[in-house]
Amino acid sequence: MSASIIDGKQIAEEIKIKIKNVVSKRIEDGKSVPGLATILVGNDPASMVYVNSKHRACEEVGIHSFSYNLPAESSQTDVETVVSQLNKDPEIHGILVQLPLPKGLDEERILSTISLEKDVDGFHPINIGRLAQKGREPLFIPCTPAGVMVLLESTGIQLSGAKAVVLGRSNIVGMPVALLLTKANATVTLCHSRTRDLPHEISQADIVIAAIGKPNMVKGDWIKPGAVIIDVGINRVEDATRKRGYRLVGDVDFDSASQVAGAITPVPGGVGVMTIAMLLQNTLLAAELADSK
Ligand code: NDP
Repeated sequence: MSASIIDGKQIAEEIKIKIKNVVSKRIEDGKSVPGLATILVGNDPASMVYVNSKHRACEEVGIHSFSYNLPAESSQTDVETVVSQLNKDPEIHGILVQLPLPKGLDEERILSTISLEKDVDGFHPINIGRLAQKGREPLFIPCTPAGVMVLLESTGIQLSGAKAVVLGRSNIVGMPVALLLTKANATVTLCHSRTRDLPHEISQADIVIAAIGKPNMVKGDWIKPGAVIIDVGINRVEDATRKRGYRLVGDVDFDSASQVAGAITPVPGGVGVMTIAMLLQNTLLAAELADSK
């Protein structure tokens, strides 16, 4: 069997076009331009790249973006003060604190300082708590997990009653994905580094979400024929044939998995591009929430 490829790039592009149209219409109607503020503490090169790409994406769809770059040695109060000021700023509808924060800063306290209505990354403990509770809905769903769900839905697979295996239990990917799949009535197994027999767990799954950060770890012969595979992993592996000396691969061994799976995301061009589209969507939603106040 040869899997169909889930084209995250195209799906993200379609979402961005829709957002751009809605933003233009808001402006025509005299409503506010959605505004996103990013807070970057320190100068971690990967974080700088991520933040820049978020600003570029905002520009593409007509969302205003504002960057707040604080020195690595900023205190807890310094960061919380910026968040509190942005909470009050009517031009800012969404606030994103780029993670990870430098050591010594209390991430949970900083995320809790963000106004719930501006928590476009969906990491405020109340938003995450609501995700975990039956009958409650968060205002915002974290961007990468939200992107995973959109990609899954694009395949037409019925989530209700499906067996889903999530690899990885991080706060930003694995755990919220497991919670979202549970809300969608899938039967979820959450695997991590202490899971005894990963290949066996994966072999039972109609849906596999891989978010462990281990290049090409999940092999085709672990996968149930026809399963839908969403590969969140982004890993650099050395590649002397590339000018930059490396290439990006996922957590799933694409070559073998794509022979067995029913559908699979590529890396790059799968989940990564969806994350930013979901951030734009959350920022627009935040502006709409502000309108209704
Ligand atoms: P973390 O390092 O925070 O978490 C990794 C998880 O994988 C942990 O729960 C860990 O288990 C588990 N794990 C590690 N090794 C194994 C193993 N051998 N077998 C089973 N489970 C294992 O990673 P993130 O969640 O932040 O990121 C995961 C991947 O997703 C990375 O490649 C990252 O680059 C990528 N990513 C992609 C994004 C995108 O936009 N596409 C966004 C965010 C991340 P334990 O809890 O026991 O330690």
